[in-house]
Amino acid sequence: MLHQLTVAELTDRLDRRECSSTEALEACLGQMARVEGQLHSFLSWDEADARRQAAVADAAIASGAYRVERPLLGVPIALKDVFCQQGQPCGCGSRILQGFVSPYDATVVARLKAAGAVVFGRLNMDEFAMGSSTENSAYGPTLNPWDTSRIPGGSSGGCAAAVSANECFAALGSDTGGSIRQPAALCGIVGLKPTYGLVSRYGLVAFASSLDQVGPFTKDIRDSALVLQSIAGHDLHDSTSLPAPVPDYRTALTEGSLKGVRLGLPKEYQVGGMDPEVTAAFESALKQLTSLGAELVEVSLPHTEYAAATYYIIAPAEASANLSRFDGVRYGLRVDGSSPEEMNSRTRGAGFGPEVKRRIILGTYVLSSGYYDAFYVRAQKVRTLIRQDFLQAFEQVDAIVTPTTPTPAFRLGEKSEDPLQMYLSDIFTISCNLAGICGVSVPCGLTRSPRLPMGLQILAPPFGESTLFRVAHAYEQSTPWHRERSPLS
Ligand code: GLN
Repeated sequence: MLHQLTVAELTDRLDRRECSSTEALEACLGQMARVEGQLHSFLSWDEADARRQAAVADAAIASGAYRVERPLLGVPIALKDVFCQQGQPCGCGSRILQGFVSPYDATVVARLKAAGAVVFGRLNMDEFAMGSSTENSAYGPTLNPWDTSRIPGGSSGGCAAAVSANECFAALGSDTGGSIRQPAALCGIVGLKPTYGLVSRYGLVAFASSLDQVGPFTKDIRDSALVLQSIAGHDLHDSTSLPAPVPDYRTALTEGSLKGVRLGLPKEYQVGGMDPEVTAAFESALKQLTSLGAELVEVSLPHTEYAAATYYIIAPAEASANLSRFDGVRYGLRVDGSSPEEMNSRTRGAGFGPEVKRRIILGTYVLSSGYYDAFYVRAQKVRTLIRQDFLQAFEQVDAIVTPTTPTPAFRLGEKSEDPLQMYLSDIFTISCNLAGICGVSVPCGLTRSPRLPMGLQILAPPFGESTLFRVAHAYEQSTPWHRERSPLS
């Protein structure tokens, strides 16, 4: 079945004229018709626009040589509802952006299009990317294709569920504290958070600007490298994007052996509350990595215990500033009032959900005079220590390995009443954003009953994506996990 192919397999078939982009798109739409009623991965999609793009791709394929300049030509790829795509809605899973239509393409969307992709569909997410389960979407949760009584993770839960259920060949998401890696792990696919500054954030609706990064959800590591190659690189519209050449990531995919690779095991990552099956899967991943030739080295990241507290000061602080623009004047929803202030407060009161309000209140508090030094400035100092921990560890090792999440997918409603429990599901992923380094999650096993996926997280120094791909690819190719598909796929 066409929709079950990886991006690389699809482009091979397209090149051999064994199928068309239109057929690939129809296969995705057909799969969506079968499973969307159970999953709710998508918030909306524009079939007419997608069919038009696929027809353009088919005409280009028919006209001959194209693949080098347009590596994603004809491949249907979907977007988290957080990226601007000209002429399409962009709602961030929030009521406050109801009715908003993007006036321009985000740089990553423009790059996907330039690479030939058929960009279609808006994927569900926790409102403004705040959450770990997609239950904070104003439009209802997405469910996990492995077990629809469970959450797919978040905040990019729609991306993970859609790729895992083969509703699209790949998806773009955003990761501020784990929102790509955590849902990818819980849905059994690959999720990559690139180094801060590698991929442009222009046209990505900001949550916490010093932490946000854009990255791909894919069915395997080869596809992850392929998509990253197309979206990475300097952008004049984003002053935090780095003006450096993007390496050819394909060269990292050839090596099967990990001889000479040193992998760090942080001793602080043995936390309580770990699911025993996650621990067992992680341990067998370590055995596999050593059998491929890697050497395991214990490293120390002494400030790990402060990571969650630091993140939950810095991220809400930045969010409270970023979300101040949604005031009923320029974007989406407006609830009228007798004065501008009343209009602002009614709009924000009706437009934002409870988790977003909690973050705005938290963020405003830690930035308020009198508390600024005690919370915000101190958190910034701890953030520097966390970054230094990683940079020192990377003097001894090429990459660091951890489980991606402490547990497999939890049940719908299980943590939604307890924000702290929800925040702790990111315990292994948030330090990476605070440090600005890169990380990837690859499938590393399934629990026994029910069968639920688990992820191995690999972290590398800034701009170490080639190292991530090398280690993850060698691991993936020597294990069966990336070929396991959910019952709804
Ligand atoms: N779960 C984390 C939060 O709620 C991370 C979200 C993200 O990466 N966007 O802030």
